[in-house]
Amino acid sequence: MKTIALIAHDGKKAEMVAFVKDHIEFLKKAHIVATGTTGGFVQQTGLDVELKLSGPKGGDAQIAAMAAEGKIAGIIFFRDPLGKHPHEPDIQMLMRISDLYNVPLATNPATGSLIIAGLLD
Ligand code: PGA
Repeated sequence: MKTIALIAHDGKKAEMVAFVKDHIEFLKKAHIVATGTTGGFVQQTGLDVELKLSGPKGGDAQIAAMAAEGKIAGIIFFRDPLGKHPHEPDIQMLMRISDLYNVPLATNPATGSLIIAGLLD
């Protein structure tokens, strides 16, 4: 089973829930891991979610560690381009790790859909 990581900043959580609903059939067949608050919203769609810490408390760093260990097939990370974040260093670290290990990472729904299409069996 492929593991997909889901992360959305506060201004993008509604967009993440809509994205999850649009791709629910694929996501039901995946193992979902998410930062704490995002994961709570995603659980409300009925999906099982492995919850990590909230992003500002280290959740992005936990997901980056999983990516570095080869445990993640794709990361859907809806950043809020209009927001400021106390955990900006962790966000940059997650993106660096995804580049270092060539893990697909989408920062918007259009690219997220392409990642999912690419991972469909
Ligand atoms: P959250 O973290 O899902 O716990 O809100 C996301 C983030 O801010 O990186």
